Amino acid sequence: MNPEPRRAVFLDRDGTINEEVGFLRDPAQVRLIPGAAQAIVRLRAAGLAVVVVSNQSGLARGIFSHAELAAVQAELERQLSLAGAILDGVFFCPHHPEGTVEGLGQVCACRKPEPGLIQEAAGKLTLSLAGSFMVGDSRRDVACGNALGLTSILVHSGHPPAPAASPAEEPALVASDLAAAAEWILGRLAGEDGVR
Ligand SMILES: [Mg+2]
Ligand SMILES: [Zn+2]
Repeated sequence: MNPEPRRAVFLDRDGTINEEVGFLRDPAQVRLIPGAAQAIVRLRAAGLAVVVVSNQSGLARGIFSHAELAAVQAELERQLSLAGAILDGVFFCPHHPEGTVEGLGQVCACRKPEPGLIQEAAGKLTLSLAGSFMVGDSRRDVACGNALGLTSILVHSGHPPAPAASPAEEPALVASDLAAAAEWILGRLAGEDGVR
């Protein structure tokens, strides 16, 4: 039997879960945003999958290697685990149109706001896009979520967000951080008469 598709919260990484430092490549620079780990715990406890979808153009630009990205990600997940927070999946876009690294300097279907990362995650993890959420600190994150019909939340814990360039970049909610976003999401679920 196929498993029932689960609803999910798709999370941007830098500026949403961990502090934005610009092309994070050193595990020693990984700092969780206060409340982020607890927010992930609460969202999963409510039955939502929590999945990271992250543009990592530093790979295409030659700023860091796959091994360095893996080391940073391992440290992030180690810190999350100390608070009991687990990620259901992690998906990276390694590309950039102006990237100089062989094979990665290209227009792709997975660099947000393109929807490829979320579509890949939904396919691999059997997730329902209907009733799911996207949380990020960039207008790209919002546009990506909106394009797929997700409920998108813009958080102020990373880059100061640019003004919306079009209605496609307007979130359903602006929140201070992931903790506040999770609180709002959980309130929405509670208002759904137990239908999930
Ligand atoms: Mg970000
Ligand atoms: Zn890509």
